[in-house]
Amino acid sequence: MMSIDKNLDKIRHNIEDVAQGCGRDFKDILLLGVTKTVDTDLVEEAMKYGITDVGENKPQELSRKYELIGDRVKWHQIGSLQTNKVKYIIDKVELIHSLDRISLAKEIQKRAEQHDITVKCLVQVNVSKEESKHGIYAEDVESFIRKCSEKYDRIKITGLMTMAPFDAEKEEVRSVFRDLKKLSDDISKLKLPNVEMKDLSMGMSQDFDIAIEEGATIVRIGTSIFGKRNYNK
Ligand SMILES: *Cc1c(COP(=O)(O)O)cnc(C)c1O
Repeated sequence: MMSIDKNLDKIRHNIEDVAQGCGRDFKDILLLGVTKTVDTDLVEEAMKYGITDVGENKPQELSRKYELIGDRVKWHQIGSLQTNKVKYIIDKVELIHSLDRISLAKEIQKRAEQHDITVKCLVQVNVSKEESKHGIYAEDVESFIRKCSEKYDRIKITGLMTMAPFDAEKEEVRSVFRDLKKLSDDISKLKLPNVEMKDLSMGMSQDFDIAIEEGATIVRIGTSIFGKRNYNK
């Protein structure tokens, strides 16, 4: 029998331990509960035990759950985002973690104008250059962010996001996270308008400890909170 409160307890202790071990304050690290495929009653349960932010990768699923739960929790779009799905989530999300192309920036700008809002976004970076992965290559991130900063005033870029390669050695995972942190520091120095490099969204159930050691401010955790996902429901 899965117990969300015990799982959360354990993860929070882990986060505290790792943060302490590398001289960071655990309060600077947001535990984002990844709730894709998880029923809303379990999302509610996690909220009862202190989860303030949840991440979904499918816009329609986010939108459906939002109708039931609303603003009692903050919603994050963490998965790749099709341009024609932006309209479902634009007025519901705290943060989009997956801005990875100009056509998407353009659509976010357009929809944000319609709602008269500003939308916070992280730029997703494909550090490891796996073909299967979404995200911008590290060397193209600066010019992408410059362009967004100049052209899309309804987008506030607040940091970077990446996913480590699956089944990689720990040292490879670490170097991916380290590269993202370095890139973030470099871009921060440019002091671009409407850009504030404060968030690093990196680390999942398997590798959040390494991510925290390398500077993560948001860890995205699903399986360790809610158990193994069942995609067939
Ligand atoms: C599913 C997912 C996660 C969570 O993965 P777990 O291994 O279940 O913790 C994190 N980030 C993204 C982008 C995801 O799609």
